[in-house]
Parts: sequence; structure tokens; C-alpha cells
Amino acid sequence: MTSDTPHLAPYASDPAKSRGRRHAEPPAPTRNAFQRDRDRIVHSTAFRRLVYKTQVFLNHEGDLFRTRLTHSLEVAQLGRSIARSLGLNEDLVEAIALAHDLGHTPFGHAGQDALHECMAEHGGFEHNLQSLAVVDELEERYPEWNGLNLCFETREGILKHCSRRHAEIIEAREPGGVARRFIDGTQPSLEAQLANLADAIAYNAHDIDDGVRSGLLTLAQMREVPLFARYHDEALAEHPQLAGRRLLFEAIRRMLSQQVYDVIDATQAMLRQYQPADADAARRCPPLLRFSDPMRDASRDLKRFLFANLYRHPQVMETTNRGKQVIRELFEAYLARPAEMPAAYAQAAQRERAIADYIAGMTDRFAIREHERLTGRRLFER
Ligand code: MG
Repeated sequence: MTSDTPHLAPYASDPAKSRGRRHAEPPAPTRNAFQRDRDRIVHSTAFRRLVYKTQVFLNHEGDLFRTRLTHSLEVAQLGRSIARSLGLNEDLVEAIALAHDLGHTPFGHAGQDALHECMAEHGGFEHNLQSLAVVDELEERYPEWNGLNLCFETREGILKHCSRRHAEIIEAREPGGVARRFIDGTQPSLEAQLANLADAIAYNAHDIDDGVRSGLLTLAQMREVPLFARYHDEALAEHPQLAGRRLLFEAIRRMLSQQVYDVIDATQAMLRQYQPADADAARRCPPLLRFSDPMRDASRDLKRFLFANLYRHPQVMETTNRGKQVIRELFEAYLARPAEMPAAYAQAAQRERAIADYIAGMTDRFAIREHERLTGRRLFER
């Protein structure tokens, strides 16, 4: 056992037993395989672009809103913290969390929907698949191969969802690889399951913060959500003078902590029940990383509330619809004039896929500028 993995449980992913990389490489002298993956992700171009990509609010709408970068850091923090309590591999959770949104288009989910429509006749566009494409193919950093050449376990976690059709395409290319579980109906590593759950905990909490900060949600309205109301009222009972932002932060802080403790307790109960002997045995169990039933329901209700009242807020819809228009018109412009793209994209054999890859990699502001350059119209003020 190495000093950096003092508390690894038997069911944790062990970097020494990694299924390896697509291109064989000698081990790094000072870092294990998962730490090395994390470092490669942090140094990638796609990671730096996350700072200028929309989570819910466009990057230029305010300096304090979450971007994909700060969201990813919060997911990594929550993931590591839970991993430590469960004896899971923190480095692997961190690597997956930092990479999980690398494939997101500009303008958040609206951008992805628009690109998916543009690609309807050409295989569609899924952000999870795109995250895998970024680390497998699109990053250009090494002399001998495309991509970051990450370990199987990190790539498995990055491919969080995948349609059956795409799973079969990946399986044909990489038999028994990262898409196999979607065909076999097995689970990914516990670390991958954890990164996925930490993602939901993070955005549910920070979207309340950003929603109230933006003025689109009010504290009074948030009290309609039982999960939030419980911690809001608890904070107020202990600190009757608390109001405004500090009350909001204290309620969110309590809600976050309780969700973390709930996941740890519910998961420990599952681990006691199934007793997976190692990481592969855990993959064959039902999902072991989970909320308790009441917390799962409460979290789902919060998500529904945010969907109806924040993500579908007329003001958010208005900007995201303009974002969609930017994506659609960029796609059309590059289709008509591929030479407007960098040569590597302009000369690619699959033109539509290359255009989608190019647009998906853009930051919000680059997409807005590029749209203006190609169409002569400005859809967003700067
Ligand atoms: Mg996310």
C-alpha cells in the first residue's frame, strides 16, 4: 500500500490494477495512474475553456455565477470528500469530476440541443460522448497519439450515459471497452457512480445560489421546496437574526452537508448488504452509491422545481434561445464555407462531425464573436 492511498477499501479502484491506457506508457515515477490522469485533464485545453462556458447563466451575465469550470471544481470537492469517507479512490473521483463536462457545448444544454438537431442526420450530438471524444481524440498534446491517453477507469467514468446505438459503435471499435456496460447492463466503478451523484448534489445547490443571486428566484419561493425549507427554517431557528445572503448560504451549506452524510450512510448500508470483494464485483452489483429513498425523492423534487422555475424561466429561455440560434447559424455558415474553420476541421473527411467538434469546443464568447464575424449580426451585447 502506498502512502497516498492509506484508506482504500477492497472495493475501491486501485491504480496499480488499472486496465491500462489505449497506448501503453511506462508508469510515471512520482504519481499513480489516476493522479496522472487528473493532471493531464487539468493541463488540457478543453479544461481551460470550461471557465468561459455556460452552466446556467451565460459567462458575461455576471462575474459571480458558476461556470462549467467552477461547477467541475465543486463536483471534485464533493466527490473527494465522500470518497474519503467511503474508502474510495479520491484521485479517480477527482479525475472523472474534472473531466465530466469537457464535452459541453457553449450555451449549456440549449447549445447541446441545438447541435444535436443540426447533427440529426449525421449521428446526433451527446455531450457525454463528446467528453470522451475530447480526451480520446480531440486534445492534441502528444507526439505519438491523439487525445490524453487516459486510463480505462477514468474514461469509463467520463462516459456517464450512452445510447444503445452509440454503445454498439464504441464496442465495435473497442471490444470489451468503456461502452460494454451499456450493453451488459452492469455498473461503472464506485468512483464513477460517486462522481455522477456529486454532480447532481453540486448543481442542485449552486443553481439555487445563482438563481437567487440573479434575482430570478426568491428566498420565499425557494421555501416551496421542502428540502430547502427544512434547512432554511433550521438555520433561522438557530440564528433568528439571519437574513438575505447569509441565510441563503447557511441553508445551502446545511442542505449540502446533509446530502453528503445521507449518501455516505445509504451507500455504507448497500456495501454492507452486497459486500463486493473488489472493484469488479462492485460493477456487477446494482448501483451502490445512492441517496436514501427520502433524500432521493427530496432531491428529485428540488431538481423539478429548478427545472420549472429557473432553467425554464423566461429570462433564461430568452438568452438560451439566442444561444441556440448562434449554434444553428454557425453550423450553417461552416457547412457553406468550411474554409472559415481551421484547416484540420475544414479538411476532415466527415464534414458535419468536424463542424460539430469545432463548435462544441468553443467558449460562449468565442461562439458569439465568430457568429458575428460570419453573419454580420450581433445577437448578444458585450
Ligand atoms: Mg456537471
